[in-house]
Amino acid sequence: MRVTTAFSRLVRLPGVWVRRVRFEHDRVVVEVALTRRRLLCPRCEYATRARKDTRPENSVWRHLDLGVWRLEIHCRRRRLWCPEHGARTEGVPFARPGSEFTRDFECLVAWLATRTDKSTIKRMLRIDWDTVGRIIKRVCDDELDPDRLEDLFEVGIDEVSWKRQHNYLTLVADHQRRQVVWGCEGKGQAAADQFFAELDPSPGGPEPTLDDGRVAQQPAIMVPFGPCPTVGAGHGIPGAWLPRGSELDPAIFARASRLRAVSMDMTGGYAKSVRRHAAQATVCIDPYHVVQLANQALDEVRRGYWNELRGLGDQDAAKRFKGARWSLLKKPEKLTDTQAVTLARLKAAGGEVWRAYTLKEAVRAIFEPGLTLQDVTVLIERLLSRLARCRLAPFVKLGKTIRKHRDGVLAAIRLGINQGRTEALNNKVRLITRRAYGFHSAKAALALVLLTCGPIILQLPHELHSPRL
Ligand SMILES: [Zn+2]
Repeated sequence: MRVTTAFSRLVRLPGVWVRRVRFEHDRVVVEVALTRRRLLCPRCEYATRARKDTRPENSVWRHLDLGVWRLEIHCRRRRLWCPEHGARTEGVPFARPGSEFTRDFECLVAWLATRTDKSTIKRMLRIDWDTVGRIIKRVCDDELDPDRLEDLFEVGIDEVSWKRQHNYLTLVADHQRRQVVWGCEGKGQAAADQFFAELDPSPGGPEPTLDDGRVAQQPAIMVPFGPCPTVGAGHGIPGAWLPRGSELDPAIFARASRLRAVSMDMTGGYAKSVRRHAAQATVCIDPYHVVQLANQALDEVRRGYWNELRGLGDQDAAKRFKGARWSLLKKPEKLTDTQAVTLARLKAAGGEVWRAYTLKEAVRAIFEPGLTLQDVTVLIERLLSRLARCRLAPFVKLGKTIRKHRDGVLAAIRLGINQGRTEALNNKVRLITRRAYGFHSAKAALALVLLTCGPIILQLPHELHSPRL
């Protein structure tokens, strides 16, 4: 077998044949040529036989390693003139536009990034972390299902910090599919507004603003013969536009109007946006956030108590209550033996830390699976009066917050927003964003979240094209 034939089979790149192979001191260089005659625009479907000029462009891509060898693909590409994108170097079937890596290599990077840590990937693949960031951004853009925002009925919106010092990503999760379907940089109302703008883009671009910066009131629904006569300006659901050429669905115009429930935290920004863009949707409070607040209140009480002990000169306290923080915060059924002992000691010691612990557990008990709405209504009332009388400032404050959002909490129970599942997805997101800390761009961090928790199934090169002849 000739060397070029052998390498043709080894690299398995679509649409090319191998012209020449050479070994350099630290790499194998495989020179390939495209089999097709026509030139394709890398950005669109445009194809032509005409070259823009005769100046060739020599391009290099890194491909999957061959044993200990780095493998480079070299190809001479032609230039074309695309009526839409102007002068371009032709696209190749084995690599994404603008990339210095083959699709196979990128696919391996993306798969690893969702499963293992930064230093492993850097060392194994010999690339830096920001390159990983750029690769997963491309893979994500390419693989993300454009229809993922169809048929959303119950969603959760929440932010996660992806870097120290207030760098946030806002994520929208589909409760039914248990996937993160959308995300953007930032948090609060503006981020939620951005989600709704993407859910139902108006054909005329962004909403026009008045001279004083307010968004102009628009008719809610445009029908082929002009503004809908039955929906007045500024009413209905903004963004419910009918794209040119599409059929009129009398029941449902906008995707936002199909949302039944949106779950969120208790800060209020997201709720404002939901009331504006999807007025019919029930605003629910994610049980997960309520429990999180209870944990924070408990931690505050614990810290206060510790400082008090230290102030009194009790040096043994730290030893006696070793690992108390986790003993208190973890679910009782998940404690290690040492933590269980510490918890028992805290119980024996009594006092406000123990009282705070029982209150935290009482908050958690509301969301136990198997409780009916009636049960929870009763439990919440009891809890609220208990919190109001508890004389522990952080828990009194918690009680006020829960009372204010009582309807939202009950709505979550009524609609069966599953606490365990949302928490599991949330934990997964938090774990993965910690890996994204090293990226410089929020887009890369977001891509990592979507690749890991979104509607994308990543496959390895040998799964995409089996190595059979
Ligand atoms: Zn083009």
